Amino acid sequence: MTSEPITDVCVRCLALSELTWALGKVPRLRDGGTESEDVDGDAGGSRESAEKAAALAAPLVPTAEGLEPHPGDLVRAVEGVGSVRAKKVEAQYRRWDAAMVIASGVESGLAGVCMCSARYPEALRHLSDPPPVLWVRGSWEPLDDGSDNAIAMVGTRRPTIVGREAARRIGAGIARSGGTVVSGMALGIDGAAHEGALSVGGTTIAVLAGGADRATPPSHGRLYDRILERGCVVAEMPPGRRPEKWSFPARNRLIAALSRATVVVEAPMRSGALITVEQAHDLGRDVFAVPGSLAVDTCEGTNRMLCDGALAVVDGGALVAQLGMNRAGERVAPAAEGPVADIHRALSRGALSIDELGIRTGGILGPGEIELALLDLELAGWIIRRSDGRYGVVDRWAA
Ligand SMILES: [Zn+2]
Repeated sequence: MTSEPITDVCVRCLALSELTWALGKVPRLRDGGTESEDVDGDAGGSRESAEKAAALAAPLVPTAEGLEPHPGDLVRAVEGVGSVRAKKVEAQYRRWDAAMVIASGVESGLAGVCMCSARYPEALRHLSDPPPVLWVRGSWEPLDDGSDNAIAMVGTRRPTIVGREAARRIGAGIARSGGTVVSGMALGIDGAAHEGALSVGGTTIAVLAGGADRATPPSHGRLYDRILERGCVVAEMPPGRRPEKWSFPARNRLIAALSRATVVVEAPMRSGALITVEQAHDLGRDVFAVPGSLAVDTCEGTNRMLCDGALAVVDGGALVAQLGMNRAGERVAPAAEGPVADIHRALSRGALSIDELGIRTGGILGPGEIELALLDLELAGWIIRRSDGRYGVVDRWAA
């Protein structure tokens, strides 16, 4: 199921996107066009280019007619970039042509959306440094669905067999319950999480550190193709760009932002996955960790997260229920009356088994009715079945 790629990018955002690539971070433009001090201590560029840069540094609105923003001009309006570096970037982009960048994207089956577009994913706007352009290959549906329906799964590239299997199972559980699995398509946990979602015909989004037009790593070419069939591959880097060392942690912020919650499956203490956790925290998103063996180094980071207050997760489907996710991204409130309301009220006072619920509700409800009500409540994310077989309300989300 692939919707028609529609490219909706303005030249200005495209130029900013190129500068993200050239400078290794999303450029911050100086305000108001005031020519700021020269960071490199050089005499600075010509008056003409300074004026052009000032005009370009105006707030992000569709550019005035006739003004063609170009990375080489725009770089002079970037905070913290002196004239020496600006000259280098100018030289690098002398032959840059926005139309050609868009054409090369379209040729590779990519559609791009810039921040000015209504199609730009809302969830990315929550970042302090949203990517000026997002390139997408595959179906737009999981992106249009919004972050409320998506869970990020991240972890080490060198997991144990147990960790890999855990990622696959949790990914499958999330997808089976209608959630979208977001990950980075890297070796190890990332790949296993995507595989899990795909194994049950679920939806998954891969966020790449290089251009979205090719698989990173190349050994995941088949996985890349399969993800395109069931979801999409996205990237902030322009088409054709190879990933750089800095673009991996930069990519992690997109994984966190596109997701309602982040699950770390297996990660050592110093790990890119833990950068994603920080990004998720900064965005106010929930963070979960899969408990691992104390004897395994690659579980040290995740176990530490649990000690520091992250919630444990062992089942993707239960996580989806716990988060109260459904296709609309909204929880259905339990009815005020009827068996569902009675059961919910009874459970609000403490966890109960089905038999205990029968007694507590005065024997009016049969086991069948109770089970049906429990199912409704569980699917809507109001209650959870505990390991002892009793049902309890999910108090964290019940407020
Ligand atoms: Zn734009």
